Amino acid sequence: MKESTDILIIGAGPIGLACGIEAQKAGYSHVIVDKGCLVNSIYNYPQNMTFFSTSDRLEIGDIPFISHNPKPTRAEALEYFRRVATSKQLNTRLYENVESVEKLGEAQFRIVTSKKEYQAKAIIIATGFYDLPYLLNIPGEELPKVKHYYDEPHPYFDMNVAVVGAANSSVDVALETFRKGAKEVTMVIREPEINPRVKYWVRPDIENRIKEGSIKAYFNSSITRITEKAIEIKTPEGEITIPNDFVLAMTGYQPDFKFLESIGVNIGDDPFKTPAYDDKTMETNVPNVYLAGVICGGLKTNIWFIENSRVHAEMILKDLSNKLT
Ligand SMILES: Cc1cc2nc3c(=O)[nH]c(=O)nc-3n(C[C@H](O)[C@H](O)[C@H](O)COP(=O)(O)OP(=O)(O)OC[C@H]3O[C@@H](n4cnc5c(N)ncnc54)[C@H](O)[C@@H]3O)c2cc1C
Repeated sequence: MKESTDILIIGAGPIGLACGIEAQKAGYSHVIVDKGCLVNSIYNYPQNMTFFSTSDRLEIGDIPFISHNPKPTRAEALEYFRRVATSKQLNTRLYENVESVEKLGEAQFRIVTSKKEYQAKAIIIATGFYDLPYLLNIPGEELPKVKHYYDEPHPYFDMNVAVVGAANSSVDVALETFRKGAKEVTMVIREPEINPRVKYWVRPDIENRIKEGSIKAYFNSSITRITEKAIEIKTPEGEITIPNDFVLAMTGYQPDFKFLESIGVNIGDDPFKTPAYDDKTMETNVPNVYLAGVICGGLKTNIWFIENSRVHAEMILKDLSNKLT
């Protein structure tokens, strides 16, 4: 059966939820559809992660976020966003994938999900970037021992672990698996150094572990083949093969551009494939279709985060209030 709503929000991440709150405040009906659980991306972050923002900077809808730590943990954030969804009575539909959005008229869209069909006057796309990992595209990547998401260190105790990449998540994963008893941690890094954007308080730790040899690092190198028991690495000194039980490919993620294009949103031809939107209203080139949150940066996934993009919700609703009756 078809359900009608004023605003359909795709993505129940922090920014999608913020949009639901603003829609409510402005007196519009809303539905927030997510293909996974509430704040699905945060749920899939490493269990022991802490945010770099203080909790007040992650707040939405004027609901205080009290943390017992200088920086909140993933568990605290999950608790917080559950509270927000409950206390604001947000209209979330979870485990429901948005498959297509079709424009029927000026302010009329047909949305087909994995469960049902909706009709809405406006669409807000807040789908983030955490669903599509960059692949290594090498033989053996399909083996179950290759992971593109990292959860916790315990499974890697007494194992030979290769960590691919040299940005924040790779460095965190290398340090954590090393400290929790992995047999040998080897970083395979395409670049000549640890990424300069690695958190300044973590950088000396990884550099010193590499210097003392407790974590092995191959710079200017890449894995060329993965087998059940080993990996082959192309290094400046030639090809080597080392024993391996797990490959943790922390190579980053990218937004679903195909999904945006299927809705008619133009993707820029700049290096970051920045989607087209008006930075005063957040409206895309498709009237009544808006972007919110980290998706706005295209491949530049580090320019928008919760702290600085929660404001998108107010901007969008301000614009929509002039349009929707
Ligand atoms: C380790 C780590 C630490 C971080 N620390 C901080 C921090 O300290 N401060 C900060 O401000 N930011 C931080 N961030 C970034 C922050 O988590 C993201 O910027 C934030 O989650 C973006 O929110 P969002 O709502 O735009 O997207 P997301 O949270 O990614 O939400 C997008 C949602 O859309 C859903 N979705 C996608 N496609 C579909 C579809 N077709 N149909 C239905 N649903 C769909 C997904 O399941 C997901 O739930 C951190 C990120 C990481 C990885």
